[in-house]
Amino acid sequence: MQNLLLALLLCAACASTHAAQPQPNLVIMLVDDMGIMDTSVPFLTDEAGKPKRYPLNDYYRTPNMERLAARGIRFNNFCAMSVCSPTRISVMTGQNAARHRTTNWINPDRDNAGPQGPPDWNWHGLKSGDVTLPGLLRQVGYRTIHVGKGHFGPRAFGGANPANLGFDVNVAGASIGAPGSYYGMENYGAKNPKRAQAAVPGLEKYHGTDTFLSEALTLEANARVDEAVNAGKPFYLYFAHYAVHAPFNSDPRFADHYKTSGKPAPAQAFATLIEGMDKSLGDVLDHLDKLGVAENTLIFFLGDNGSDAPLGDQHAVACAAPLRGKKGSHYEGGMRVPFIAAWAKPNPSNPHQKRLPIAINAIQPQQAAIYDMFPTLLALTGKSNPANHVIDGSRLDRLLTGKPDPSRKERFLMHYPHSPHRTDYFTVWRDGDWKVIYHYFPTAVSENSHYQLYNLKSDPFEQKNLAPTQPAQLKRMMQGLIAQMTEQHAVYPVEKDGRTRVKPQLP
Ligand code: CA
Repeated sequence: MQNLLLALLLCAACASTHAAQPQPNLVIMLVDDMGIMDTSVPFLTDEAGKPKRYPLNDYYRTPNMERLAARGIRFNNFCAMSVCSPTRISVMTGQNAARHRTTNWINPDRDNAGPQGPPDWNWHGLKSGDVTLPGLLRQVGYRTIHVGKGHFGPRAFGGANPANLGFDVNVAGASIGAPGSYYGMENYGAKNPKRAQAAVPGLEKYHGTDTFLSEALTLEANARVDEAVNAGKPFYLYFAHYAVHAPFNSDPRFADHYKTSGKPAPAQAFATLIEGMDKSLGDVLDHLDKLGVAENTLIFFLGDNGSDAPLGDQHAVACAAPLRGKKGSHYEGGMRVPFIAAWAKPNPSNPHQKRLPIAINAIQPQQAAIYDMFPTLLALTGKSNPANHVIDGSRLDRLLTGKPDPSRKERFLMHYPHSPHRTDYFTVWRDGDWKVIYHYFPTAVSENSHYQLYNLKSDPFEQKNLAPTQPAQLKRMMQGLIAQMTEQHAVYPVEKDGRTRVKPQLP
């Protein structure tokens, strides 16, 4: 009897603890085609590690990113894949694109391998039953909410609908990678026969109004959060803006801010898309405050690939200046994205925040990547990764405190065995201060060589190719690249015969 009473008491204590400390809410806000320089928040630092502003930081207006950055930590060496779908599937699976094999953006209607792309790449993307972050979070009681861009699978396949991939709710997610239009008056593309295939679905109630797409998605995201909170459920909100992907439709709410900038019209429109996305972030933060759940809500804010700002040449120091290159490039401007992690309302005595402390107004210079969010969020919720699901990410807990993590290997593989795009058929391997770029089919872009080698510590803006002068370092880096590709079972481009694989060669 005594034992039974004790058990009942323990059980009651356990239940009340559970009631007092429900799972934390999780938000990933993923901005399409936003690079690390497309913001008024300075991410880069000077030699002393202090934030350093560049002209682009003074062009863009992102006051709500500034607000979020002040509440948490931002990473300035956070790497993504070079285009959309590979990054998105890495966020969902915790895997590198070389491993999940969706190495190119998904064309909704056909295989997008390119003329000599790998015949065995995963152009179907994610499918029903795949292990995904929302699928796992759902198993531990989360309401899983998808708002915005999906781009996880082609139109005729299961992955086109996020509801097949572990999400309880899907608003506006489909196979499309770019919106038909940002304008409600154009029904987000549905009114224009040339853009109707890319019309954003599920927003009919805003058709014929002047609700800009980023605004409509924000209203929907906040409404879905209300539903979860009213149902007493912790939520995982994956809010993937279509902004700031082309088409560069000017957002009239912000156009005046850029009129006298002297920048070309598309670059001004791009800046309005950034500012509208930023307003959305602010609206979400305000809404969490209003609902009283901000203390219990963790936010990861990031971009999905390097900048696509229409400000200059693909491989120049222009669109992401001072970084070289932009979206689709093998240079840092193509692979570095903004990443801010914060509790929506910092409170060190909050039990969730005690379990995952996040530094305030800090900058983390150590390298991390998009697939690291998967194990970090799972660990926070107590859900274990299925034993048969290999992941490439590692937990960010230590880095989030602002301290260095000596146990982490600062390595990143970016594999793009496709064409035609902006840089074709390449693999990048970063290891510590060094970076090697391997070109499968040399062209003028690669200085007609297979190899480019940079030391990012002494040459962060990739101006001096050391491949011709540092053969031993080049060989060591290529050995690392090949070993990593082998470990991840990567797919390779092929010769013109369409069959013979072309693998990276040592110098
Ligand atoms: Ca993108």
